[in-house]
Amino acid sequence: MSEWIDGQGRRIDYLRLSVTDRCDFRCVYCMAEQMRFLPRQQVLSLEEIERVARLFVAGGVGKLRLTGGEPLVRPGIVDLCARLAALPGLRELCMTSNGAQLARHARGLHAAGLARLNISLDSLDPARFRAITRNGELRQVLAGIDAAQAAGFARIRLNCVVMKGRNDDEVPALLDYAIEHGLDIAFIEEMPLGQVGRARGESVCSSDAVRAIIAARHELLDSTEHSGGPARYLRLARHPGTRVGFISPHTHNFCASCNRLRLSADGRLLLCLGHEHALDLRALLRRHPLHDQPLLDAIHGALRDKPARHVFSPHGEVQVLRFMNMSGG
Ligand code: SAM
Ligand code: SF4
Repeated sequence: MSEWIDGQGRRIDYLRLSVTDRCDFRCVYCMAEQMRFLPRQQVLSLEEIERVARLFVAGGVGKLRLTGGEPLVRPGIVDLCARLAALPGLRELCMTSNGAQLARHARGLHAAGLARLNISLDSLDPARFRAITRNGELRQVLAGIDAAQAAGFARIRLNCVVMKGRNDDEVPALLDYAIEHGLDIAFIEEMPLGQVGRARGESVCSSDAVRAIIAARHELLDSTEHSGGPARYLRLARHPGTRVGFISPHTHNFCASCNRLRLSADGRLLLCLGHEHALDLRALLRRHPLHDQPLLDAIHGALRDKPARHVFSPHGEVQVLRFMNMSGG
C-alpha cells in the first residue's frame, strides 16, 4: 500500500484518535461549563476506530495516540488498546489522559500493550486544580500517576497548559514534582479552540516566558530530542532523568514538520488542528463496510489538501469553532 504523503510532501506517520468527546472534567481552556455531547450513534464504534487505525498503520503510520475527551471514560478502552497494540507495523501506542481513572486502569492498559502515557496536570494545589478542571480531584490524579508508574509505564510525560494569572506561578513546583518522580513534563501554550466562555488572549503564557522562569532556577541544556510530536525538548544539567518540553503553537510554529492527522470522535479526519478542513470518514465507513478502497482513495485525496500551516490569532480570538475535546488534543 502506498505511504501517506500530503500535498506539501510531508510524510504522515502519526495518527491521533479521539475515542470519545466526553470527559469527567471540564477544563477551562478546553470546554464550556455546559457542554452538549454527541449522541451515541454519531460516535464511531470501537470496531470503526480499529478499522481506521488498521488502514493508517498499513500505510506506514507507526504511532497512534488515543485521546479525547477523556479516553478512560470510553467503555471497552482497554480492549481497544489490546487490539490496536497488536496491529502489524505499529511502533508505539500512546494515550493522553487526565489521570483521574488511571488508578483503576493502569495495570490493564500496560498489560494490553499501551506503551506511553501523557497525563495532564496543571496545578498541585487542590482548590486551584478544582477551579481549572471545574470538578477534578487532585489526589485522584496524583494516585493515578503513582499507579501508572507502579504498573511499569516508563517515560510518562506530564502536560501542563500554562495560563497567566492562573497557574504560571506554579511552573517551578510542577517541574520539581516531575523531577522528584522521574517524569518528563511539557508546558503548552493555550490554543483558541472553541468558545469556552472567557477571553483567552490575556491568559496565553508564551513558552519563552516559561523557559525564563525555569532558567532562573536550573541550568538548561539544549537538546535535539523529539518524540515524533510537536514538542521541543530541553534537558536540565543537574536532573538528567527529566526532559522539559515546550509545545508552542503561537510562538514557535511547528507546521513545516507536521506529520500528524487526527480522527475526531464522530469520525471526521481532521487535516489540521487550526483549520476546519476535514473528511467525513464515518459516512464512508458506514457506506462501505466491506471494501477499503473507497476510503483509501478519499484519504489520499484529502491529504492533498492538508493545510500548509495553522495561524492562531495572538489575541486568542476563536477561529476554529471545534472544542479541543472534539479534536483529540
Ligand atoms: N482528557 C485528556 C487530557 O486532558 O489529558 C486527553 C484530551 S485533552 C483535549 C489533550 C491535551 O490537550 C491535554 O493535555 C490538555 O491539557 C490539552 N488542551 C486542551 N485544550 C487545550 C487548549 N485550548 N490549548 C492547549 N492545550 C489544550
Ligand atoms: Fe477533559 Fe482533557 Fe478537555 Fe480537560 S483537557 S476537559 S480532561 S478532555
